[in-house]
Order: sequence, then C-alpha cells, then structure tokens
Amino acid sequence: MNNQIVIFGGTFDPIHHGHLISARAVAEHFGFEKITFMPTYQPPHKGEDYHPAASPEDRLQMIKLAIANEEIFDVSDLEITLAKRNYTYDTLLALHERFGTDKTIFWIIGIDMLEELPNWYNAQQVIELARLITVARPPFNKRISSILEKLRQYFSAEQVKRLEEGIISTPLIDISSTEIRSRISKGESIRYLTPDSVVDYILSKGLYR
Ligand code: ATP
Repeated sequence: MNNQIVIFGGTFDPIHHGHLISARAVAEHFGFEKITFMPTYQPPHKGEDYHPAASPEDRLQMIKLAIANEEIFDVSDLEITLAKRNYTYDTLLALHERFGTDKTIFWIIGIDMLEELPNWYNAQQVIELARLITVARPPFNKRISSILEKLRQYFSAEQVKRLEEGIISTPLIDISSTEIRSRISKGESIRYLTPDSVVDYILSKGLYR
C-alpha cells in the first residue's frame, strides 16, 4: 500500500458531499488506505480569465474542515504552493520527484473530466504517469459509451481500454460547487450539500455572496 499515492484533484470551490461520497466509494472499491484531496491554485481547463470564487487558502481550509476526523482522507497543498496555473502533468512530475518513480499514482476524476481528457495538457503522458480512476456523476454517466467513442479518436485502443477499466460504479450524487455558490448568492440554504463545518465556514466568512 505504501507504494501508492491516490489523489483527488479539483478546484473544490467549495468541497461538497459529491466529492466526499465519491472518494469514499473509491477507497472502498480499491481498498485504498488514504486518499489525498489536492486543490488547484487555478483550474487550467477553465480558461485564462476564470478565477475560483474563494481563495486557495479558504478552499484548502474548507477541505480540512470537511475531512476532519476522517482517517482515510487527507489534503495536500502541493498545487496551491506551486501558485500558478499548473497542469496535472506538472503535478505528476512533482509527485514523482518528491516520492520517487516507483510509486503508482492514482488520479481520481469525475466522468465530466474524462470527457475533457483530450484537451488536457500532455494528456498522452498524463495517462502513462498516472492511473486514472473515473467516478460516476449525473448526467454524464448516461453518455459513457459516447465519451469512450470520443476518446478513441485521441488515444490508442490499449489506452482507452485502461481508461474504461478505470471507470467505477459509484453513487450518483447530483451536487456541484456551482450549485452551492449559486444558492448562496440567492440567499438559499446549502445545508446537506456539504458538511455542516463547511456551511458554517462559508457563512461566517461571507463567501460566495
Ligand atoms: P464546479 O461546479 O465549480 O465546476 P465541481 O462541483 O465540478 O465544481 P470540482 O472541484 O471542479 O467540483 O471537481 C473536482 C473533481 O470532482 C472533478 O473531477 C469532478 O468531475 C468531480 N466531481 C465534482 N462533483 C462531483 C459529483 N457530484 N460526483 C462525482 N464527481 C464529482
């Protein structure tokens, strides 16, 4: 187990129960002892002008609150301390540099991100450096076969087979960070969408208003 690193990367603006339930399902499915949430400083796939609504420090803090007392989860500030628009490819190289190339890196994504994979920087190398684990997410999970069809245009049959094997059946949780931000801005409750500690943090700091 010690030669594995399992990362769940994302903006986490904010973290919510969709992330947490999916991560726990991945841990159970593979028997992982640890999954590390790694917030991005700036999501590379959302364009130059996109900036997360909450600061990296707030997003990191909300993850810490959400996973407090949960042994199988931890958090890494690696991408945040890189403090630039870095790509998953760069992060994977940094992880190999830090922990050695004999470690197997598992990288968790939602099925919406799998569809975007051809647009990832150095996607070919990314899927050689890490084993992608894809979790279900509505409504994208209805289109798995068309997503795989699209991937066949960019990746070899062998690579697509591996990507397909990495798609695992997880609970369908229709929650997004966008929904949380939008509900806050409209003055609506976000209770039950994310842990109470995160709700309290958002409200006390006046985030997403
Ligand atoms: P936003 O609404 O701001 O785009 P998001 O809810 O998609 O945010 P991210 O932080 O961008 O959250 O997601 C990080 C990773 O978690 C991505 O790979 C995404 O596909 C996955 N993910 C997000 N929400 C869910 C969910 N409800 N179920 C499964 N996977 C999810």
